[in-house]
Amino acid sequence: MLLDNRVIAITGGAQGLGLAMAERLGRRGATLALLDRDGERLDEAIGGLAHAGIKVHGFVADVAEEGSVREAFSAIESSLGHIDGLVNNAGIVRDGMLVKARDGRVESTMSLSQWQSVIDVNLTGVFLCGREAAARMIEAGREGVIVNISSISRAGNKGQSNYSAAKAGVAALTVTWAGELARHGIRVGGVAPGFIETEMTASIREDMLERITSGVPLKRLGQPEDIAESVAFIFENDYFTGRIMECDGGLRL
Ligand code: NAP
Repeated sequence: MLLDNRVIAITGGAQGLGLAMAERLGRRGATLALLDRDGERLDEAIGGLAHAGIKVHGFVADVAEEGSVREAFSAIESSLGHIDGLVNNAGIVRDGMLVKARDGRVESTMSLSQWQSVIDVNLTGVFLCGREAAARMIEAGREGVIVNISSISRAGNKGQSNYSAAKAGVAALTVTWAGELARHGIRVGGVAPGFIETEMTASIREDMLERITSGVPLKRLGQPEDIAESVAFIFENDYFTGRIMECDGGLRL
């Protein structure tokens, strides 16, 4: 897909990887619809991108809420006419061990709300936005591309039962949707980032980060631009669908 004048929605676009994707796709001519739940941060992001000459619009939305997602996609269609692409990027972490115990005594467990909040945003949010975007692309009779952001943790990662399960689900949705939607001219790809320098990883303890980095063959954390480039590749390569692109500096968990 040539990006010039394509309308691409990015969830969680107000910061981190989503913002870097907006910049990368915008510089290649796409018009961006950024969805995020914090209106102020969204305004700030839009101001910066517009200043750089990028065509961008903001929509406050919670991807975990069906009504909010419907409203946001209707608003995108009303103001921008149609939608050609979606990046399912919004995500959260609520890490914790399934059961934390010492000397045979349980100290804590992962709570149901810790589990559910991550499943709601990282998995149900992807389902809701993907369904909405695909339905609108098909009704408009337009080809489209959906990119889902999974994670290296999809293979399973200690302390991330909730996150790993959601990201494995996102990888499975990518394959499923690619099969279902190809006949409508819609490609679906995924990106599985390793550890990337954003707010999400800023909360990891310094010694933990050093341990992680020492295990990365390239000996550094990734930059948001590295992931933005992977997303752009999927948009632009018309034979890419149903696969997850790993961009992790060679790290294996
Ligand atoms: P980030 O800096 O925390 O940005 C995520 C953005 O998504 C934030 O603006 C956040 O808003 C927004 N968001 C969260 N829940 C939302 C909801 N329910 N509705 C709408 N927006 C919501 O994270 P990031 O590092 O850029 O991560 C982006 C994606 O990459 C996530 O899916 C993440 O799991 C994945 N990923 C990241 C890494 C990494 O190392 N950074 C590695 C692998 C995969 P709030 O601040 O209000 O929550």
